[in-house]
Amino acid sequence: MRFFSFFTPSPDAASRKEIFLFNTLTGKKEQFVPLKNGKVKMYHCGPTVYQHAHIGNLRSYLFADTLKRLFLSHQYKVRQVINITDVGHLTGDEDEGEDKIEKEARKRKKTAREITKFYTDAFFNDIKKLGINTSNTFFPRATDYIREQIALVEKLEKKGYTYKISDGVYFDTSKFLEYGKLGSIDVNSLKEGARVAANNEKRNPSDFALWKFSPQKNSGQAVREQEWNSPWGKGFPGWHLECSAISQKLLGETFDIHTGGTDHIPVHHNNEIAQSEGVTGKPLSRYWMHNAFVTVANEKMAKSLGNFYTLADLEKKGIRALSYRYWLLTAHYRSPVSFTWEAVEGAQTALKRLSLHIKELEEEKIGSVISIYKEKFDSAVTDDLNTPEAIAFLWELVKDEKISPQDKKATLLYFDTMLGLSFSTLPSLFEHTKNIPEEVQKLVEERETARKEKDWEKADSLRKEIAQKGFVVEDSENGPVIKPIIEVQPR
Ligand code: AMP
Ligand code: ZN
Repeated sequence: MRFFSFFTPSPDAASRKEIFLFNTLTGKKEQFVPLKNGKVKMYHCGPTVYQHAHIGNLRSYLFADTLKRLFLSHQYKVRQVINITDVGHLTGDEDEGEDKIEKEARKRKKTAREITKFYTDAFFNDIKKLGINTSNTFFPRATDYIREQIALVEKLEKKGYTYKISDGVYFDTSKFLEYGKLGSIDVNSLKEGARVAANNEKRNPSDFALWKFSPQKNSGQAVREQEWNSPWGKGFPGWHLECSAISQKLLGETFDIHTGGTDHIPVHHNNEIAQSEGVTGKPLSRYWMHNAFVTVANEKMAKSLGNFYTLADLEKKGIRALSYRYWLLTAHYRSPVSFTWEAVEGAQTALKRLSLHIKELEEEKIGSVISIYKEKFDSAVTDDLNTPEAIAFLWELVKDEKISPQDKKATLLYFDTMLGLSFSTLPSLFEHTKNIPEEVQKLVEERETARKEKDWEKADSLRKEIAQKGFVVEDSENGPVIKPIIEVQPR
């Protein structure tokens, strides 16, 4: 770590700035008040590990990480849970269809555990590349909490919230009077929408499975590999149940913040609330926060629509995971972002340019954080995570020639605790651009644009201009590679 040593925030809790967050539960931006002074407990709905997470899914974890970093840089202790769904998530939205994991295992002639282990490891690999901070983060697997899930259903049963039909035990949403309170969901419209696919044994279309029975032998349905005994019969937990059981066990009956993508508001999160609050009579989470979608051509990026990209797809085209992180930071988490290759390439160009500035500071000592920049940056991020504004202040600082290199370095280091762009290793990430002057970088970018526009004449003249400055540009699969021209000495 040549550039920056790790920045340790001052333990002075009195300097903690007020934080405002948009709460889906109230539909308002509110001042954040933790349950316990100086501590934040958060739960984030995690991945279903039957395929690689796509970059839309990864936005949810980047958002959770930015939130965590906000608290850490304001001297809070953070405890975080991201569950790993390794059972029970069905292909249909109406508690019907096949278990996604069992289906994938059969298709690939693997065991369910082989599939879930492989994709859990792939998920960890992705979040590592994205610079996600996993200290004090727990990644419980749903299959390790079957006992807790059964116990929760038993409690709901005792309170009269459940009923049994031929394919499982269901939650009767009409018994939970506040059902649909998150995001002001109109339960009647939910019922309308659900009518077509509804299981006609259900009492209300919005009722959902708590425990599903394994298919009977000779039913024509595939035999399940992952199944457990329960007081109601052999089967497996409904998808929503794990979040209620795990969060209660690891974070307590009420915790501070619950997050997920906006698609989880109408059904999954309202169902979590019904299960948990039905048992405890206490609020499950005080703040509910949701990130907007990554879209492609105005549609949600989704595995089911086939319009998705993984981090590996981006890497194949030379786009680094941290460039994707940077791109998302330039948008507000509540704004949808429209994925295009041009957009992420543009983000990578900006990040490369930033890495050149950082490289220049590499040998400098760390000075003092400039309070006026800290103030501006903090005001942006404590205002419901306004990262686009924070990034604008970062560039203002980078270009500010009145600030000494030492203080600039200290201030950038402070910003990075929140942005997670790994400034210490950023220059080496773009190794091939090392020691390449910014003016040459810019010419290469102009040449790339000219090539995309098929303006070969301009591209050629730019290549000559680059050569005059002592560099040669070679076109590779991963984009242009710039190398200094090595003078051949006469013998
Ligand atoms: P899943 O693995 O489908 O349960 O999704 C994991 C997380 O990704 C959840 O928080 C979803 O709400 C979120 N998510 C799914 N698709 C997108 C998308 N296109 N953009 C942003 N978040 C998404
Ligand atoms: Zn959940």
